[in-house]
Amino acid sequence: MTQPQNVIAVVYDYDRTLSPVIMQNDVIFPAIGVKADEFWLRTNRLRDVRAYEDELAWLRLLLENPDFRQLSNVDLQQFGRELEFFPGVPEVFNGLSGFLEDEKYVRHGIALEHYIVTSGLKEVLSGSPLSEHVEAIFGCELDEDREGKVFWPKRVVSHTAKTQYLFRISKGPEYVDLSHDVNDHMPEEERRIPFRNMIYIGDGPTDVPCFAVVSSRGGVALAVYDPGDDESLHICQRLLDAKRVREIGPANYNKGSHLRSILEYRLKRIANRIADELQQAHQREIIEAARPR
Ligand SMILES: [Mg+2]
Repeated sequence: MTQPQNVIAVVYDYDRTLSPVIMQNDVIFPAIGVKADEFWLRTNRLRDVRAYEDELAWLRLLLENPDFRQLSNVDLQQFGRELEFFPGVPEVFNGLSGFLEDEKYVRHGIALEHYIVTSGLKEVLSGSPLSEHVEAIFGCELDEDREGKVFWPKRVVSHTAKTQYLFRISKGPEYVDLSHDVNDHMPEEERRIPFRNMIYIGDGPTDVPCFAVVSSRGGVALAVYDPGDDESLHICQRLLDAKRVREIGPANYNKGSHLRSILEYRLKRIANRIADELQQAHQREIIEAARPR
């Protein structure tokens, strides 16, 4: 069955894209008395000396911490309430849909959805004020032991594995359900959200695989930087120079900001293209139906 393909998705990275502080430093370490600098030094050592993947290194160190091991997934969700966000988050999620109330778009049922794909802990974001505004959150997940305490990673979303979730979003809700194999073949016209209807927003080199998947398939890749951090601006400029992303902007999502204007412009372009295509398809059907047999 072909899909109307009238849904637009904005997919966000989390750490340093929606928040100036990575979630471990922001809410987890303060709760269990861990010094961030020391922790990341040990993580880097596991990566550099023992060739660990980053995510497996920090997950191991967290799960070896006796105070962290006392926590449940519900505790991790509680941490989510304390997260710090960039300006305009979460208002931007509802605010961006406003323009779709125009009859031109309503006629074709054009809708906007938001998703978050993080290499951090999914449960922390599930308990945050962001969760009610997004269709789905993908991230590392921990299993609980018989006492209900976290003890083992059941899903690790490394930065290269993040692209898998873009395909899940593209294919539709049954693939957003993680028990479904994402590799089942699905022709482009049957996908609920083709990549050309997708915008991916990230902040740095760990987003390059997602930037590449989205832009090579006709979508839009955007990078944001922390206006208070020169290094993050340089990273974004390098991404732009290397044509990894279409545009860059300071991570201020408030109405009237540069980033918000870029987002609104890109969303309108996609929505106009969808409206034109659906209008043309509709006219073809009318001509077809009126043709003498
Ligand atoms: Mg990030």
